[in-house]
Amino acid sequence: MELIPFLKPKVVTRPYYQRYLDEIDASRLYTNNGPLNKRFEARILQEYFRCEGDVVTVSNATIGLLLAISQMKRPGKYALMPSFTFPATPLSTIWCGLEPYYVDIDMDRWCMDEDLLEMTLKKLGDEAAVVVPYATFGTQLDLNYYSSLIKRGIPVVIDAASSFGTTMEQQDITRFEGAMVYSFHATKSFGIGEGGIVYSGNRELIQRIRCATNFGFNEERVSSQLGLNGKISEYTAAIGLATLDVFSEKIRIREKIGEWYKKAWSDYKLEEAGWRLQAATGKITYQFYPLLCPPEQENIYYVNKLRASAIQVRTYFSPPCHRQEMFRLHPRTSLTATEEISRRILSLPVWEDISQEQVDRIVRSLGE
Ligand SMILES: *Cc1c(COP(=O)(O)O)cnc(C)c1O
Repeated sequence: MELIPFLKPKVVTRPYYQRYLDEIDASRLYTNNGPLNKRFEARILQEYFRCEGDVVTVSNATIGLLLAISQMKRPGKYALMPSFTFPATPLSTIWCGLEPYYVDIDMDRWCMDEDLLEMTLKKLGDEAAVVVPYATFGTQLDLNYYSSLIKRGIPVVIDAASSFGTTMEQQDITRFEGAMVYSFHATKSFGIGEGGIVYSGNRELIQRIRCATNFGFNEERVSSQLGLNGKISEYTAAIGLATLDVFSEKIRIREKIGEWYKKAWSDYKLEEAGWRLQAATGKITYQFYPLLCPPEQENIYYVNKLRASAIQVRTYFSPPCHRQEMFRLHPRTSLTATEEISRRILSLPVWEDISQEQVDRIVRSLGE
């Protein structure tokens, strides 16, 4: 039986970025916000954010989160976040001297429960330094709610690591005054190796984060604020520009794979058998295809079952952060939904040359 791997990342190949590399060889500019980086940022802003607000490239999304939190946090002790996320979310807040405070997610969207968040904010008062929601699995969050937090003086940094390319009708993300952090890691939909961006509707905020990616230097190259080296090189910008050239096609392919999964999902009657999909609005650029196994079962059973059929699946993000050694002791609300979802979550393969037959085989193997 032919193995179906979980991921087979496909970053653009040399023919697509050769002409950008030639520019680097000619200019002999290799980093420090060079011409390719400037063009990469300008095109992202134009093609994905209608030239509203501003964007800055960062060496990876973890550094992007760390710098955005460091620039935005108010005095206080806690960073409120879901436990059902990647360790980069709590880690970036700990590096900023904050303590994670876990808020449970809801059973439908698998994102932080906003009612519970509201109650927790009331309880913590001035002790809440920042809110760091995760736009689970490439979805988008209700920015109206999070904008209202910013108006109340509560900083919001959204971990949107896997959401680049996802579009959302009826929501204008360019008005958002908080920070949104996207990852360009090779395994993400906009994969370039390592890299990411921070976007905000607030230009002044992006200006400060840009300064922070370059040792906090001001115009005179004097350190004027807290900073580090969070820049990307011109080589990374070259791969980024070449990826922008083909990204609309990549989005189309990933959306199509999502439709194949939905078709197989109804063909094999998984809903009737107790399986559940994420309730998500907007068009998702799938990084992988997440779903919940029936409540009476556990995801591990299916991981093993599919492995026996030569299919690799994962269980992102299980164990959730509060069950990992580094993050075990932090305070939390009750985490009933987080426990339930992480017990049932399965992440199914998505990569750009997977075939409809392979998707069909994966879903059939779940239902058998
Ligand atoms: C991938 C990911 C990150 C980290 O992104 P890097 O660019 O690898 O630092 C952070 N948060 C979430 C939810 C992710 O999926």
